[in-house]
Amino acid sequence: MTDCIFCKMVKREINPDVVFENDEVLAFRDIHPKAPVHVLVIPKRHIETLDELDDQTLAGELLLSARRVAGQLGLSKGYRVAINCKSAGGQEVYHLHLHILGGRQLTWPPG
Ligand code: AMP
Ligand code: ZN
Repeated sequence: MTDCIFCKMVKREINPDVVFENDEVLAFRDIHPKAPVHVLVIPKRHIETLDELDDQTLAGELLLSARRVAGQLGLSKGYRVAINCKSAGGQEVYHLHLHILGGRQLTWPPG
């Protein structure tokens, strides 16, 4: 996907503020943070939405990477992992990503 902003980050055509990376996933700080800690975890290969995720190993890698990043960033009091799926779910970037939010008291339900 040449015109996908997150694919460009994987290829370092755009340089994100990376907090974690391995062969399968990349985690970087959100450019418009909604909490003191706001990190996105993405698969390195282009998958548009959660509905297109069919690789169980990658699904696990994404979730465990989110937990690892939360630990690395000191969110021992708690945090939220969220996936916005398609328009009604509030998804704006169509490359699958997990939001990690923390560093303040989060409310429920989200808007
Ligand atoms: P979503 O609404 O779930 O698709 O979330 C997309 C997220 O990507 C938003 O929180 C944006 O602030 C974030 N975002 C968009 N462009 C960039 C960028 N260049 N670097 C970091 N985060 C970005
Ligand atoms: Zn992409």
